[in-house]
Amino acid sequence: MKKNIGDMLSRESFNIDPARIDLAIPKPGNGFGFGAPRRLRNLRFNMLPKYCTSMSILVLVFSLRVIPLAADTPRFDDRHIVVVVWDGMRPDFVSEETTPTLWKLAREGVTFRNHHAVYPSATMVNGTALVTGVYPGKSGIIANYVYRPDIDPHDAIAVESPAVVKKGDQLSNGKYISVPTIAELVQRAGGRTAVASAKTVGLLLDRRVGIGPAENCITFFAGSALPGDVLAPIVAALGSFPSARLQKDRWTTKAVTDFVWKDGLPAFSVLWLGEPDLQQHETAPGAPSALAAIKSSDENLAAVLSALDQQGVRKTTDVFVVSDHGFSTIGRSVDLRKILKDAGFVAKTVFDDEPKPGDIMLVGNGGSVLFYVVGHDAMVTRRLAEFLQQSDFAGVIFTKQGLPGTFHLNDAKIDNPHAPDVVMAFRWNDSKNQFGTPGMIDSDWQRAAGEGTHATLSRFDMHNTLVAAGPDFRRGQTDDLTTGNVDLAPTILHILAIKAPQEMDGRILSEAMTSVDQVPVTGKTEAKTIEAKKDFAAGIWRQSLRISRVGSTMYLDEGNGAFAPTLGGKSD
Ligand SMILES: [Zn+2]
Repeated sequence: MKKNIGDMLSRESFNIDPARIDLAIPKPGNGFGFGAPRRLRNLRFNMLPKYCTSMSILVLVFSLRVIPLAADTPRFDDRHIVVVVWDGMRPDFVSEETTPTLWKLAREGVTFRNHHAVYPSATMVNGTALVTGVYPGKSGIIANYVYRPDIDPHDAIAVESPAVVKKGDQLSNGKYISVPTIAELVQRAGGRTAVASAKTVGLLLDRRVGIGPAENCITFFAGSALPGDVLAPIVAALGSFPSARLQKDRWTTKAVTDFVWKDGLPAFSVLWLGEPDLQQHETAPGAPSALAAIKSSDENLAAVLSALDQQGVRKTTDVFVVSDHGFSTIGRSVDLRKILKDAGFVAKTVFDDEPKPGDIMLVGNGGSVLFYVVGHDAMVTRRLAEFLQQSDFAGVIFTKQGLPGTFHLNDAKIDNPHAPDVVMAFRWNDSKNQFGTPGMIDSDWQRAAGEGTHATLSRFDMHNTLVAAGPDFRRGQTDDLTTGNVDLAPTILHILAIKAPQEMDGRILSEAMTSVDQVPVTGKTEAKTIEAKKDFAAGIWRQSLRISRVGSTMYLDEGNGAFAPTLGGKSD
């Protein structure tokens, strides 16, 4: 069931569960940790006829408190929101030693111990989900790299590239991202915003569409800016945007604290740090240099908090520290271009000539691959799905048509008119890498084994970090209720008393908040595992996807699959 903010306020936001807010403060190392290992072989596969609910947990949720309805007047006078994103930060690396500032902030606020990325667990997809509150299929940003023949008929595109964003908005009358972002809504309500990203993702958070003149609002992305002229004084003082990774984060942080916030804190600020993502890609999660990159993000957070203290606005500012996705280590790099070619498919990553019906455009996104079959040729699509099902690298396969032994794209909320015919998340396991960090995946051809990447349905990619602290959040508590990136926009808009014009998929994180009245409510949390299988002469393909739900908001926990060869070559 879809809902709008009004509905959420009257129903879903009341899923408050004091029993799930425990007073314990996170413990070192594993306070944010993952649940008990759940191996695929332990899952039940008594499927009928395609999907089935194998587990359902009902938790009675009860509270004496509710959040008051959002007022008609935006709350800009006594409230500020600061979102600091640590790109690719795994929750199990939050510790007193590595991240002392975040550790302390968590003790002053709420640690969300069961936080989720949306799938694919990639940066642009989750950046968009964070600021729109809707799933990827609805926003339109379903991967970092996609094939949009209406934008470029020959090559895959990076969804956040300025030329692509511009053309996408031209083709859709300003709906390249189909719904407004938090920054746009704050601006429309008359508030000031600042989006500063050391990575290119910043453009998706506020690309300046459909809004009148928004005075004193800025977007920085990887050293570029909108409006362009705001950069000059910053470059004059800090030098031009540096090329070294840690310096990029430092520069962007300083641009915010020393320049953008100089004349007062905007209603809504985002600071997106590129670490530890970039270093974890180069090395792997848990590598000494990756831990140093985490420390660097912690120091930038300290600079942000210090700036808030200096401005005397800590008491009126809610600070969110969130990561876009988790991280894994590559166990095997799979060259699908060669594998599909050897199997007789016409599979390309660039169309040099006019593509023919049945040709496949292959778009790698690290831990997931998108397959676009030209002309949506049904025979080729079916053959491709069956080939992947009998491979030793496929984890979970989604198809636009919901082919046998696959899930529908909409089961992962990634279906839309531009969606590919097939999406495959690579297989994963919970074994440890060379630095003792669990979570190994197969991945596409773009990085080597031993390096880090993400974007699969692994529990280590799909679980990420969230800490929130400030006047609207409880102090020194943990929240075990399922939450996700898609919940930040409805929560932030609620705090600022701004009504979104569109339905949101996320929910207000009311169970963690303080601004509540005395009205009893009930609610429930559900979890289920959907499964699909397909028999072949040589064995059986099985895949599963575990989904949690709070109210009408659903979260993908993890998914995996395997082909089990039948002895003697005949399946039963
Ligand atoms: Zn990222």
